[in-house]
Amino acid sequence: MARNPTPLKDRVAIVTGAASGIGRATAIALAEAGAAVWVADLNGEGAAQVAKSIRAGGGEAAGHLVDVAEEDSVAEMVAAAVNEYGGLDILHNNAAAVDVETIGMDLEITELDVAIWDRTLAVNLRGPMLGCKHAIPQMLERGGGSIIQTSSAAGMRGDLTRSAYASSKAGLDSLTRYVATQYGKQGIRCNSIAPGVILTPALEANVPQEALDTYLRSTLTPRLGRPEDIAASVVFLASDEAAFITGQVLCVDGGILAHHPAVAAFRPEDS
Ligand code: NAD
Repeated sequence: MARNPTPLKDRVAIVTGAASGIGRATAIALAEAGAAVWVADLNGEGAAQVAKSIRAGGGEAAGHLVDVAEEDSVAEMVAAAVNEYGGLDILHNNAAAVDVETIGMDLEITELDVAIWDRTLAVNLRGPMLGCKHAIPQMLERGGGSIIQTSSAAGMRGDLTRSAYASSKAGLDSLTRYVATQYGKQGIRCNSIAPGVILTPALEANVPQEALDTYLRSTLTPRLGRPEDIAASVVFLASDEAAFITGQVLCVDGGILAHHPAVAAFRPEDS
């Protein structure tokens, strides 16, 4: 049977952090799949540009300035999308404080400034909670919906730095299971996607090439991830093809968490 090229026709989606990287790729992919997309970001200018390029390609999208850490701003984002497109079916909670000033100062615990911890948790965990809080009533009006959180492989293992970031993402996976549990019977599904190393502007600003080479040795695929790898999974989880998937954390990580940590050290140089 031929695959439906527009499985999200007549659906309305909000994507946060959609001016760049994974969010941008997801907004484009959701629009290609037929959804009307509310492109939301702290960078309002960037969000407007992404929406404009989607419209230029024949899709339906509008740009919106939001700070996901602020409840009024999130409430306004949801209300504006519903007002423009008549309802809400899909929320991709993707924005995170991955700027160099925040994640670059996210150190080991004894060196960690409380302000960095608080900012990280406010954007990465309070933000998605607020998104769910305001989106769910709108989704219930339509008989259900799909919420997808961008979490991280970092939330599932220990590391030397990025303590706040990893804790926020582990909390986000818990939020996913709670939303799935509390609203599943009313038709709302909620899942996390845990990306591995994805080549985005944020990653390239924060991670030197030498470290990328090290990550590649510990990734099971021949290449690191691309934003489109995550976007394709968001489209799937948003669609009815994923109707029986909820409360899950899907690792889209090139297998970085799927093997013994010493494999890279033992692998022969030429393989
Ligand atoms: P990116 O910097 O390319 O995009 C992040 C976007 O979020 C930016 O456009 C930024 O303006 C926006 N943003 C930041 N704070 C915001 C706020 N308070 N309100 C609204 N928007 C805000 O980064 P990316 O790599 O595409 O990251 C996207 C998501 O993927 C994040 O949740 C990140 O933690 C996650 N992630 C990325 C990787 C990776 O390797 N790139 C790996 C795992 C998880």
